[in-house]
Amino acid sequence: MSKAIQAIRGMNDCLPGETEKWQRVEQVLRKVASNYGYSEIRMPVVESTALFKRGIGEVTDIVEKEMYTFEDRNGDSLTLRPEGTASCVRAGNQHGLLYNQEQRLWYMGPMFRHERPQKGRYRQFHQFGLESFGISSADIDAEVIILSARLWRELGVEEFVTLELNSLGSNEARADYRQALVEFLTEHQEQLDDDSRRRMHSNPLRVLDSKNPEVQALLVTAPKLSEYLDVESAEHFQQVCKRLDAAGIAYRLNDKLVRGLDYYNRTVFEWVTDSLGAQGTVCAGGRYDGLVEQLGGKATPAVGFALGIERLVLLLSGLDKFNDLRPATDVYVVSMGDAAEMAALSLSEQWRDAVPGIRIQSHCGGGKFQKQLKRADKSGAEIAIILGDSEVEQKNVTVKYLRQKKEQISLPFEQVAELLTNLLEG
Ligand code: ATP
Ligand code: MG
Repeated sequence: MSKAIQAIRGMNDCLPGETEKWQRVEQVLRKVASNYGYSEIRMPVVESTALFKRGIGEVTDIVEKEMYTFEDRNGDSLTLRPEGTASCVRAGNQHGLLYNQEQRLWYMGPMFRHERPQKGRYRQFHQFGLESFGISSADIDAEVIILSARLWRELGVEEFVTLELNSLGSNEARADYRQALVEFLTEHQEQLDDDSRRRMHSNPLRVLDSKNPEVQALLVTAPKLSEYLDVESAEHFQQVCKRLDAAGIAYRLNDKLVRGLDYYNRTVFEWVTDSLGAQGTVCAGGRYDGLVEQLGGKATPAVGFALGIERLVLLLSGLDKFNDLRPATDVYVVSMGDAAEMAALSLSEQWRDAVPGIRIQSHCGGGKFQKQLKRADKSGAEIAIILGDSEVEQKNVTVKYLRQKKEQISLPFEQVAELLTNLLEG
């Protein structure tokens, strides 16, 4: 045998048993997005490298060291998308979706970043993202946050996530703050670690994000972003907070929350959890009023978020939220002999018609009765329906309960659909 080929490190298969969890989460995400009038958009996973360089920013972690960039056969530089917002804006501009109109959009799919794989951090991972275009007032910032809060409620994890909130202000206010921060950091250079010293020049606001306790201790005396907020942004932020208060959504103001992507201004937020260890940010987003224009469109205000589906599935699994997931099969059909097999075939089709949603697995490959019953048990099915020559003659089936201590019964063909309906309704 030749050596088996393995998947790429950090790029995971999602196997049966896991896929059911994903399906449940995805279903809730789709449902809630549609509850607020958002439409799905699907973008390609490969884009021109220039889109991300220009959209996300040259000196962000993503563009500097995380992108999967390659030349295709024509010599064009392409990149596997590391996130969805830039692609979504590109698509919106390209198809005239953003010009003089509002759009509420969502997407879901794989993203790619060359990071060190660990729990909650992978090289291919999946995001659900939601973007709203064309509205500059604070009500839409509040809407996307309120929508995200509903996701946690519907998934049953609202007690395990906390909303962190900040305002980055206008680009001008942030530039002033940036200057003040760089001055402060320069004065205290010797107290910074290498990473922070490097960021001080390339992307100084990211120093605020440092995980190093010594850097954090130093930052206590650093100038505060909130002290540099422009009047309009401060008012906008107040309006956002007022709406969250009205909706009963608790938040923690976090002056150091800056986000790693360059396109944000004003409102930024993250939903974080203590239940996942180091990779505790489940969902992150904010306002990005400059991006549409920066990517060649007409200036259009926008706000959105992206959440990591792996982290959400991990969170829910850790909280035992998937214990009620059922195996893939409700009913396993066993048949002995040619006539019975033919009857089983057409009856199974009739039952699938009559009871939408029922999951019937038909035994294939023949074999002895005991072997077929073993398969039935292994399938996880609740019942086995058994057909042999005598059943076919008498137009009834034998029903064997596989999970409950119940006597097997004999049931006329025409009563089976009712039994299956009851089985589904549990
Ligand atoms: P982090 O600080 O954890 O690196 P980020 O700021 O890079 O996150 P965003 O670009 O804002 O993350 O992406 C939004 C969400 O996507 C994150 O909050 C997280 O849930 C998820 N995510 C980001 N990168 C990864 C990854 N490599 N693997 C799994 N999930 C990820
Ligand atoms: Mg990251």
